[in-house]
Amino acid sequence: MLNTVYVGLGSNLDQPLQQVTQALEQINAITDTVLVSHSPWYKSIAVGPIQPDFINGAAKVHTALDAHSFLTALQNIEQAHQRVRKEHWGPRTLDLDILLWNNDTINTERLTVPHAFLQVRSFVLLPLNDIANELTLPNGKTVEALAQQCDRAGTEQI
Ligand code: ATP
Ligand code: CA
Ligand code: CA
Repeated sequence: MLNTVYVGLGSNLDQPLQQVTQALEQINAITDTVLVSHSPWYKSIAVGPIQPDFINGAAKVHTALDAHSFLTALQNIEQAHQRVRKEHWGPRTLDLDILLWNNDTINTERLTVPHAFLQVRSFVLLPLNDIANELTLPNGKTVEALAQQCDRAGTEQI
């Protein structure tokens, strides 16, 4: 089965724009996976500890992999970018999150889909809305409505 997946990308270390642009190519190179489209990039003020601004975006992907195998592939890409996990919500070279997986709800130890903070993060909703404004979440809310309602302070398209 071909799955339609939306991935959130973020980086705020070591030339963030280069990190996320390269990550798109690496996502396209995952087995049985193609990159369909991606959003413009946004700059956002970081949440959590004081740290550099983030570059964020979203990508639409088709993959024949199952959700957990796809997550592993994304984590391998993060590792290839020398991501170091130190503090929660700390700075990172690359963060790849599964935002949506078809219209599915997934709750396992490794995976919560839709992504836990999807509905409240402007740096996720605005790029997602650029590539998916007809999209409805499993709870019936549209990405377009959520993007219109969210607090945009600190997030701007670059
Ligand atoms: P946040 O969840 O607030 O965006 P984060 O991206 O900083 O936080 P990470 O340290 O990158 O969090 O990931 C922690 C764990 O989250 C991962 O090991 C992964 O198993 C789990 N996880 C749960 N749901 C998802 C998802 N939808 N996409 C990616 N990782 C997820
Ligand atoms: Ca994240
Ligand atoms: Ca993550």
